[in-house]
Amino acid sequence: MKPASFAYAAPTSLDEALDALAEDGAVVLAGGQSLVLELVYRDQRPRLVVDVNRVPGLDHLREDDDGLALGALVRHAALERGGDGLVRRLLAEVAPYVAHPPIRARGTFCGSLAWGHPAAEWNAVALALDARVHLRSATGRRTVAGADWFRGDRRTARQDGELVEEVVLPRLPSGATTGFAEHRRTHASFAEVAVVAVVVLEDERVREVRLSAAGLADRPLRLTAVEDLLVGTGAAEVADRARAETPAHLDRAGHHAALAAELAGRALERALRPEVVAA
Ligand SMILES: Cc1cc2nc3c(=O)[nH]c(=O)nc-3n(C[C@H](O)[C@H](O)[C@H](O)COP(=O)(O)OP(=O)(O)OC[C@H]3O[C@@H](n4cnc5c(N)ncnc54)[C@H](O)[C@@H]3O)c2cc1C
Repeated sequence: MKPASFAYAAPTSLDEALDALAEDGAVVLAGGQSLVLELVYRDQRPRLVVDVNRVPGLDHLREDDDGLALGALVRHAALERGGDGLVRRLLAEVAPYVAHPPIRARGTFCGSLAWGHPAAEWNAVALALDARVHLRSATGRRTVAGADWFRGDRRTARQDGELVEEVVLPRLPSGATTGFAEHRRTHASFAEVAVVAVVVLEDERVREVRLSAAGLADRPLRLTAVEDLLVGTGAAEVADRARAETPAHLDRAGHHAALAAELAGRALERALRPEVVAA
């Protein structure tokens, strides 16, 4: 199939981009790695495609006291290269699971959040890290917490005319460690299930734990019931306890529940006992 016809704008300033986005039926083109397919299959029929790739100042990857800020044009590949700090290390661990190299060279972190695919790895990361999504339109700015962002399968809190200008991943608590585990059918497929873990220990027991999963529902989920159960568990038992408890606290049963349980255990092992997970 070919896309339905649309107008195309390639603004060279943020103001121009926001004015174009204010038009009826306008959509953002960032990396194009999801949008172009949706155009071709006519899942989206925009009147105007606003390509933001020439807008300066959207490709920043900046760490400050607030956390790590990722601008709208930060590509998946930029995160694969890693950097200092726990959050950058987690992003570098996850990035190779996002599609494959040519897609990672163009696709963007903010584009993944804007698209809101239920199995997208970055969306699970955003939930685990309590991300803040900063939106900008011709009429103003607003910020949405990661927990309120995902509204369903490829549905988010974004409104027409809004650009996801940047996403901020707040600093993790001192002493936190992180882990990630995923199962996918082929190297380039989306995850069947992926789990992100953040753990803080005190006296060898879990003081705080966050588990978020992609692929289990129409949006990424925080496994809050399991998190609550794991608080106070000894570091040596936490992974196996997550394996045992997770299925009872999911709305899904069968294959996906079994995968989620195993991956929660592995993500926690990566966070706490990396030597247990050899490869
Ligand atoms: C073969 C293949 C395999 C893939 N595998 C995976 C995978 O394993 N895991 C994974 O997570 N993804 C996967 N993807 C998707 C890929 O990661 C995309 O790059 C990503 O989902 C969207 O980012 P993008 O920058 O390409 O967005 P685009 O394709 O440009 O846009 C996607 C949607 O988001 C909107 N949008 C994008 N950026 C913004 C913004 N800043 N503000 C407002 N709206 C915006 C667009 O209007 C559009 O509706 C795969 C894609 C392909 C083609």
